[in-house]
Amino acid sequence: MNAPYDVVLRNGLVVDPANGVHAIHDVAIRGSRIVDIAPAIAGDAVREHDLTGRVAMPGIVDMHVHLSAFLGGGLGHRMLARAGVTTALDMAGPIEGVVELAARHGCGLSVAGLNYLRPGHTIESNDPSRGDLSKALDHALSQGAIGLKLLGGHYPLTAEATARAIAIAGDRGAYVAFHAGTLSAGSNIDGLREACELSVGYPLHLAHINSYCRGQIHDAVAEGERALALLAAHPHVRSESYLAPFNGVSGECVDGVPGSRLAAFGLERGGFAATVDGMSDAIEAGWALVNVERDGVIELVGGSEGLAAWRAAGSNIGISFRANPPEPRLRLVTATRDDGRFAVDALATDGGGIPRNDIVSRGLALVHLDALSLEGFVRKASLHPARILGLTTKGHLGVGADADITVLDLERRKPVLTYAHGQRLLDGEDVVGRGGRMITTAQGASAVRSAGLDALIVEPGTMLKSPQFDL
Ligand SMILES: [Zn+2]
Repeated sequence: MNAPYDVVLRNGLVVDPANGVHAIHDVAIRGSRIVDIAPAIAGDAVREHDLTGRVAMPGIVDMHVHLSAFLGGGLGHRMLARAGVTTALDMAGPIEGVVELAARHGCGLSVAGLNYLRPGHTIESNDPSRGDLSKALDHALSQGAIGLKLLGGHYPLTAEATARAIAIAGDRGAYVAFHAGTLSAGSNIDGLREACELSVGYPLHLAHINSYCRGQIHDAVAEGERALALLAAHPHVRSESYLAPFNGVSGECVDGVPGSRLAAFGLERGGFAATVDGMSDAIEAGWALVNVERDGVIELVGGSEGLAAWRAAGSNIGISFRANPPEPRLRLVTATRDDGRFAVDALATDGGGIPRNDIVSRGLALVHLDALSLEGFVRKASLHPARILGLTTKGHLGVGADADITVLDLERRKPVLTYAHGQRLLDGEDVVGRGGRMITTAQGASAVRSAGLDALIVEPGTMLKSPQFDL
């Protein structure tokens, strides 16, 4: 057979805001690239798909996921593929485990990773010097990471060391993301303000804006508006938020009470006692949901099955509460500034192995409600995160772009087909992709390749730029 194309997707509604396309088009793929896009493409292909009634968009880029042994785990690859994602950024590390799990569990996704700054693990103290931080960054890059993650909400550093880390990453053109919180400000709206101020002069990815707007200090709606004002006043900050009502914490109870303060907060919010009995009641009632493995993916399960899983694990298992109030959560995704730009750059999930990979299911609910246009959805779910990651050949469907495509069933709010680098990942309900590639810098290429993965090289200094330059 001598077909001119490997794949042709026919008759889909192509939504590609970067190239100004919103029309029924065919898309042709050869190798890993898009080679033609037009109202009708003549010529045969080895494989053709009829996308009549479907939407074809550039592959979804989830810029906040967890795929490490520390958080998320390897099953997250399959969960992301099922959710229509083609590219993802792991937001914790350790990077060595992210690379190893990608080699073992890969479903064809492109994955980038950050390495955490964690006292006792990647740095010695909570007040590392410039030299310590520089060494930690070198190590992260050499192992395949594109930069660093500050886990202030979990393992806070001093405010000074936090500022030093952001500056060092910026000076080297590396990526740096921050879960707000230091030894002087909490993981809340005050921590968000401090993060904006500590990073002035340097680019920064501030993680999950919605999680600082849970009503911990002020009213949740007021915190959401405050977050929007802070982001508008600090244009060097790149941001994402997620739509799931659920947070993710440890269900572990020690000496009769939850070990995690956020778990205690979640119980009280639902009217349950912050004790081991309260936890048990909350799981049985379906207020606290347990991360349970079912058919090769993690699902949130309450009731008697969730309770049994929590007990079988001796309480040391991930659980989720409905910790995110709806008003700021919805507002942060849809809010725009005076010039029409989105106030928060991207729609992400904090998912991966944490079961809330809902960019399509919940994001398209906002499209149904007319709260987000289809173009806006594509910008926030693909174009903006691709640009923030410095991936010029992703986030759009121009000729020469990577053949990363997500096909949507708008009515059912589901992905029905995905391609990444010209390979099928998801077809109907089936994950058919294999292997994958790490997005890395030249310094990390050999670590990635020796793990058996392809390396997609990004250039230092091209990341964390404002993605909204062509409205
Ligand atoms: Zn996270």
